[in-house]
Amino acid sequence: MANCKMLPRVSRRLVAFDFDCTVVDDNTDTVVRDLLPVDKFPSDTIIHKQGWQEYMADVFRRLHKQCYSPQSIRDKIRGIPEVPGFVRLLKRLHQAPENKYDLIIISDSNTIFITEWLEAHGLTNCFESIFTNPAYFDNDGLLHVRPYHHQTECKLSASNLCKGKILEHFVAKRNLRDNTQYERIIYVGDGHNDLCPVLKLRQGDIACPRRDFALDKKITAHRDKMDLRADIIKWKSGFELLKQLVERDATLDDGDADEPKSESTKQ
Ligand SMILES: [Mg+2]
Ligand SMILES: [Zn+2]
Repeated sequence: MANCKMLPRVSRRLVAFDFDCTVVDDNTDTVVRDLLPVDKFPSDTIIHKQGWQEYMADVFRRLHKQCYSPQSIRDKIRGIPEVPGFVRLLKRLHQAPENKYDLIIISDSNTIFITEWLEAHGLTNCFESIFTNPAYFDNDGLLHVRPYHHQTECKLSASNLCKGKILEHFVAKRNLRDNTQYERIIYVGDGHNDLCPVLKLRQGDIACPRRDFALDKKITAHRDKMDLRADIIKWKSGFELLKQLVERDATLDDGDADEPKSESTKQ
């Protein structure tokens, strides 16, 4: 048996994923809010005056008052469809030879929603870390979500979550902990709050915006004014993204990167 310490160091890659509208094909918060009848939604003025987290706190209180159980909320989350091809993409990256890819999630959803969905789709073990707002059901069954952190320095990001800062911290921490130096970082997302981490990427990294969604539109409209060093891969599905990543890394190819013709893409 070879001594592990004698093995040459593998060049590692980090893939950071947004969650809502990137891995799952909807917004976890609004899906849960939509359990309420429309005339029971909180007023939109809460969003403008107190922010999205307060709005959702009101949604959770209303659901609780209407006797929606934690299980009914969990079931609703489990039922959200994947963006077609993403379950396959995540498994393929996770199972890449020599564990070449580390996968993380950076999301403004919350720990309850994300872990529930990943568990329902057999993906829990794929991720090295999940960075999102901590959440819990209290003894009474009411859902509470806390801010991930509180920041005021980054103007591109909300006060409760700067994805760029989280990405930088993670990379620095891995470097200190076990000397991991990522030779490439790939960032996959769709929304306005994914611009901050994309602008932290270096030359040789890859930004992967969902085609025709907010992040893609923003980059397309303002690229000449941005300090954007990463390459860009646009995608409409996980199948398409996997195919493009295989073109850049043949070790990911197991010969069936194309979209299956017969297999249903729903979970
Ligand atoms: Mg998103
Ligand atoms: Zn930021």
